[in-house]
Amino acid sequence: QASEAIVDDHKTRAAAAAGLGRILVFVRLRPMAKKETEAGSNCCVRIMNHNNNKSDVYLTQVSTDNNDYLRLKRLRGRHFTFDASFPDSTTQQQVYSKTTAELVEAVLGGRNGSVFCYGATGAGKTYTMLGTVENPGVMVLAIKDLFNKIRQRSFNGNHLIHLSYLEVYNETVRDLLSPGRPLVLREDKQGIVAAGLSHYRAYSSDEVMALLQQGNKNRMTEPTRANETSSRSHAILQVVIEYQVKDGSSNNNNNNNNNIVKRVGKLSLIDLAGSERAIATDQRTLRSLEGANINKSLLALSSCINGLVEGKKHIPYRNSKLTQLLKDSLGGDCTTVMIANISPSSLSFSETQNTLHWADRAKQIRIKACDVNVEMQIPDCGTDQAKLLLELQKENR
Ligand code: ADP
Ligand code: MG
Repeated sequence: QASEAIVDDHKTRAAAAAGLGRILVFVRLRPMAKKETEAGSNCCVRIMNHNNNKSDVYLTQVSTDNNDYLRLKRLRGRHFTFDASFPDSTTQQQVYSKTTAELVEAVLGGRNGSVFCYGATGAGKTYTMLGTVENPGVMVLAIKDLFNKIRQRSFNGNHLIHLSYLEVYNETVRDLLSPGRPLVLREDKQGIVAAGLSHYRAYSSDEVMALLQQGNKNRMTEPTRANETSSRSHAILQVVIEYQVKDGSSNNNNNNNNNIVKRVGKLSLIDLAGSERAIATDQRTLRSLEGANINKSLLALSSCINGLVEGKKHIPYRNSKLTQLLKDSLGGDCTTVMIANISPSSLSFSETQNTLHWADRAKQIRIKACDVNVEMQIPDCGTDQAKLLLELQKENR
């Protein structure tokens, strides 16, 4: 049994190594909401999956025959290819299996992994990450999977899973499981930690959903003009698994091949704040400050990922609370997955376009790492995302 665990462990490490430096980018289209239909919107997104594991997303304002993809392809800047794109019929389990299951394997191998959901408010980020009781999302399915895998590999009794759930709101860090005063970030031997952050030991996946739902009720949500409940906060679930295995690896200098070693893996699941333009909400003072901070965090996140993939010496983690917190989930041994959430409605056309451009950018970072230079199209609208993209592109030259 123990040797099985070791073989699995090595496989896991190999799989994780193969994924190093890669940012996998996925797109998830949510179903049309009743409100959107009632407002007379039509579907402006088409997804086409190919046999070669790639998939295309088309964005269109013209009404087209479902098969008129060639015509759509000619609409420059409106056609994107991703690692996979999920049509609105995709189940939570399918999204989990395609995007995160491998990462959970890597985490079990003692590595760090992170999954980000990015997109405008209402695009389906929280549904994808948290989900509902009937349809639990990536956060819950990942923990369930962790428990199952641990049971199968029989390192029962020797493992510890603990989780913490926090949010960054207006550059302030708060504990979602034990709300109180804002948390201060401190640097210690393990890196940046939120001082006083509560850690819950998880004994079963069943209790996790309730815990997370309670946590989500503590999130800062405030009505804005753009949306009734616009989430301006970044929520981060950190799942840490610690366990002991017999270390039979060949690079173990000790003659005794049966050393017991402690492995620690960390999985960060991140529900980012809405990416919509601050301009659309047309609010000043506090709100514009918030907007600036949200963009600051997203910009900082992009800069860090960029820097890491390009092998830059200085990675600007310190530029935002979000990137400080995610420092050890982004660099080095970490595998990163991005899920871009989009609405099908023509009413969200420009938000969707921005999201797809951002996701396309993230995807190109990976291509650039393989030494292929790709020019990207900048959206023709003066949005924050467009400016961000321009800045990123300048930085890359
Ligand atoms: P966000 O977190 O991006 O602001 P939500 O996840 O809250 O958006 O989604 C907005 C609404 O759409 C919610 O009512 C949610 O239940 C619903 N929704 C989102 N994605 C899906 C999906 N894939 N299937 C069914 N309903 C969805
Ligand atoms: Mg949300």
